[in-house]
Amino acid sequence: MKLVVLTGAGISAESGLRTFRGHDGLWENEPIEAVATPEGYYRDKKRVRDFYNGLRKGLPQYEPNAAHVALAKLGDQLGDDFLLVTQNVDDLHERAGSKRVLHMHGELNQLRCEKHENHVFPFTGEEDETTRCPLCGASTRPHIVWFGEIPLYMDSIENALNHCEHFVYIGTSSVVYPAAGFKRIAHAHGAHVTCLNLEVDSDDSFTDTFVEGKASDIVPVWCQNFNTF
Ligand code: NAD
Repeated sequence: MKLVVLTGAGISAESGLRTFRGHDGLWENEPIEAVATPEGYYRDKKRVRDFYNGLRKGLPQYEPNAAHVALAKLGDQLGDDFLLVTQNVDDLHERAGSKRVLHMHGELNQLRCEKHENHVFPFTGEEDETTRCPLCGASTRPHIVWFGEIPLYMDSIENALNHCEHFVYIGTSSVVYPAAGFKRIAHAHGAHVTCLNLEVDSDDSFTDTFVEGKASDIVPVWCQNFNTF
């Protein structure tokens, strides 16, 4: 595996989607405990479903930016030597043309069965208590990994991190684990680790190269230069 890319909310910021910890705050000003934990969901399912219904409904108004497009092109060039992992639940990587994206925190445009967690299906409407799993008829929940739940695709991601030559993390604050630990795993296995972010902490000992700037400026340039590394 030549390159593993990890993206976070920062790559979608210039498309208009708010980041998690930026000064304009949490999505729709809802507290994390209420809308991003299993406890919050079981306390008030309607509130949580409505929150994600609102985010899902808003998605089509946002367009992929130059950073999403550049990664899709690089992915096409590298084929199986490239893995794109995202913490984002939006669909901007796919709409930019990326073909294989691992959404480790789930996807807004999917729902999951409440009985069988492997029953996951595409969904673009409004979920409510009458929505049913098309495979078994049970009730559903947003296909979002909440705080305290286990992220998706961890085996494939760890395997790729253990074998990659380059790891780059883009637009992520590196505070949400396990994603925040990916740079350490890749670095320990000898990969060259690069951070592309609006603000960088150049003291980080697991990162070899830092590039500071807006994703739509720095990601296309970095991707263009990648083949010369
Ligand atoms: P975060 O909000 O914690 O951090 C965002 C990072 O992006 C910051 O380090 C910031 O400096 C950087 N950034 C902001 N604007 C940028 C720009 N224009 N160019 C480059 N970098 C920029 O986000 P996170 O680390 O992804 O973690 C938050 C969690 O919230 C994730 O797990 C994700 O699932 C979820 N989330 C997803 C979306 C989405 O799907 N678009 C949006 C918000 C939050």
